Amino acid sequence: MSATYNFCAGPAMLPHAVMEKAQQELLDWNGQGVSVMETSHRSKEFIALTEQAESDLRELMNIPSNYHVLFMHGGGRGQFSAVVNNFLGEDGKALYLKGGQWSNAAVDEAIKLVGEDKIDSIEIVQKDNGLNKVVLPEFEGDKEQYRYLHYCPNETVNGIEIFDEIDCPWPVIADMSSTIMSREIDVSRFGVIYAGAQKNIGPSGLSIVIVRDELLALPSLKQSSIMDYRVAVKNGSMYNTPPTFAWYLAAEVFAWLKSLGGLKQVAIANEKKAQLLYQCIDSLAFYRNGVAVENRSNMNVTFQLADDALNDKFLAEAKAQGLIALKGHRVVGGMRASIYNAMPYEGVEKLVQFMEAFAKENA
Ligand SMILES: *Cc1c(COP(=O)(O)O)cnc(C)c1O
Repeated sequence: MSATYNFCAGPAMLPHAVMEKAQQELLDWNGQGVSVMETSHRSKEFIALTEQAESDLRELMNIPSNYHVLFMHGGGRGQFSAVVNNFLGEDGKALYLKGGQWSNAAVDEAIKLVGEDKIDSIEIVQKDNGLNKVVLPEFEGDKEQYRYLHYCPNETVNGIEIFDEIDCPWPVIADMSSTIMSREIDVSRFGVIYAGAQKNIGPSGLSIVIVRDELLALPSLKQSSIMDYRVAVKNGSMYNTPPTFAWYLAAEVFAWLKSLGGLKQVAIANEKKAQLLYQCIDSLAFYRNGVAVENRSNMNVTFQLADDALNDKFLAEAKAQGLIALKGHRVVGGMRASIYNAMPYEGVEKLVQFMEAFAKENA
């Protein structure tokens, strides 16, 4: 069977080498004769795994020592309510930047919990020559006492990425579910970074939270212990039984990223993949991407065909060549190629060859 390249937005493909290692170790992890799934999370073997995972993640992202790293349940969306409950208290307000499907959903969840009076929001995507472009507001001298500003640097559905950092007087909380570890960032500029694991880290269900310690002094709302960051810190992310298999796979992904030379090298590879694909889209009148060049996502490349009636044919023929899960999200339509860290350059090359041939035959 020839290789299958999986362009799914999430759960996304995982590195082949990691999957092979997991397969080999499935029935006998660490010479114990049992799977990691069947191992106590409090065993010394598993604790060693979690320590290695945290230290690798800290090294990869260059996380300062005044930040906690938490491995939690509930994926990306679980954190939409967690940040509200952890930081808003009874009288706090927060500011949300709305730039697409996910940041908008975070606003809806926050309003559901504390009401519209406590949540301000700003639309940051504007049309510029028919293209979606992010225009960040100026916050200099802003006197509002927000507990935090929340935004999503990579809108997975819309294929919009914000490469600029946010300058504001409040702690910045970022939903990095679909961009975490795709390039180097300066963690110290963020109050909280969180991410559901299933795009760049591992299996769904797990989420990673990186939180600056001083934020934990903010008043929290009454909330379930399982999503309380302070409880998670106190218990080493083991207040209850953590998603151990997902944690194990995440640890393997971190080790794999280190073996590639860390995020600097990973970012170069991601840039190359994205350039190849956008260049194909731009060079053929048959395809169109609707995002301003400076906001084109390196992770989720969205594009429309010249004629929507060809979408099903495109998807079927791509699939026959082992190029799967290219269908765009239902709210935006068209196509979406998610090219996270685990997607090899060859996968994008093969997609581009297919797109060129398809355009020629169907133009
Ligand atoms: C996928 C995704 C989510 C949702 O993750 P779940 O684990 O399904 O809750 C949230 N935010 C962003 C940016 C995402 O890409």
